[in-house]
Amino acid sequence: MIPMVDLQRQYHDLRGEIDAAVAEVLESTRFILGPNVQALESELAEYLGVTHAVTCASGTDALHLALRAADLGPGDEIITTPFTFIATAEAIRYVGAEPVFVDIDPRTFNIDPEAVAAAITPRTRAILPVHLFGQPADMPALTRLAEDHLLLLIEDCAQSFGAHIGGVQTGSATAFGCFSFFPSKNLGCYGDGGLITTNCTPAAERLLKLRNHGSKVRYHHDEIGYNSRLDEIQAAILRVKLKRIDEFNQARRRVAARYAEVLDDLDVEIPYEDGIGVHVYHQYTVLTDHREAIMKALQEADIGHAVYYPIPLHRQAAFDRREKAPPSLPVAESVAARCLSLPVFPELEDAQIDFIGERIRAALG
Ligand SMILES: *Cc1c(COP(=O)(O)O)cnc(C)c1O
Repeated sequence: MIPMVDLQRQYHDLRGEIDAAVAEVLESTRFILGPNVQALESELAEYLGVTHAVTCASGTDALHLALRAADLGPGDEIITTPFTFIATAEAIRYVGAEPVFVDIDPRTFNIDPEAVAAAITPRTRAILPVHLFGQPADMPALTRLAEDHLLLLIEDCAQSFGAHIGGVQTGSATAFGCFSFFPSKNLGCYGDGGLITTNCTPAAERLLKLRNHGSKVRYHHDEIGYNSRLDEIQAAILRVKLKRIDEFNQARRRVAARYAEVLDDLDVEIPYEDGIGVHVYHQYTVLTDHREAIMKALQEADIGHAVYYPIPLHRQAAFDRREKAPPSLPVAESVAARCLSLPVFPELEDAQIDFIGERIRAALG
């Protein structure tokens, strides 16, 4: 059996440190907004190269709180990708703004800057790229557009912790970076968790309030906020794992390189690195016209696999605006019909990758 991601294996490798860190929190009985959250936030700010790192309860909340802190709402259009997890666009709806879905690059699956440019209207307030599967979006092009049209850039970095463009971490050079610590993410905790990064001090102060019932001083509430805090147990676990994140991401790149060799002569398109930034392979996603056959073979061999994502967001019922037909986004639709994600995690062994490759070879006959 080869799972999509082997969290147990990683836990066993780190067990001594993680168990000790958790035990310390339990003994201290400080569970909410205590010393681990505080320390983690400064360690994250240091690692990512930002002035402020504000943790929260999930990646979805990170997006929601960032959009609130940016004062986006009804009447505002936010241009984003349809080829992502629903949370990206859900957060836009939470604040009452309108997601405008534009097509993606056929090779990287990231938002296409030319499509973004074509979708800008007088109502556009922000661009929300996703660094999909761990590969940085074309931030140089998106930054130029944002500057030319005075738009905010808010990054969905849920899949890209540690990915960077020439040493500049994703989420560190725009209005907000929004990260998830969901267990299977590159930096994952053992429950839900999230993070917003910013270099703007007033925005960070607003986020600190929004995540904690609109309150800076206890029982004084300046606005309606949320209960969206990372807890001390998760923060303690993340502090252990943050020390290893570069090692983990390098191991993911090693896995990707091995797959590239193993799948080289097969009728599947392996992930394309556009060289704009460093890909950290949150997912290893191939394109194939033989998805059903490959999935069947992997299923029979007990090898994990998944379709991320089978239905682009502009085709989801949740975004169905009856008065308007969904836009035609042919690249996103074609990629959704052909994509297949294979197991990738730092501990995946060469022999396992070779075995997966063999099964795919057999399936393709
Ligand atoms: C995981 C993910 C999210 C949401 O993160 P949660 O912590 O699960 O709320 C948002 N966007 C993308 C692209 C994701 O992969």
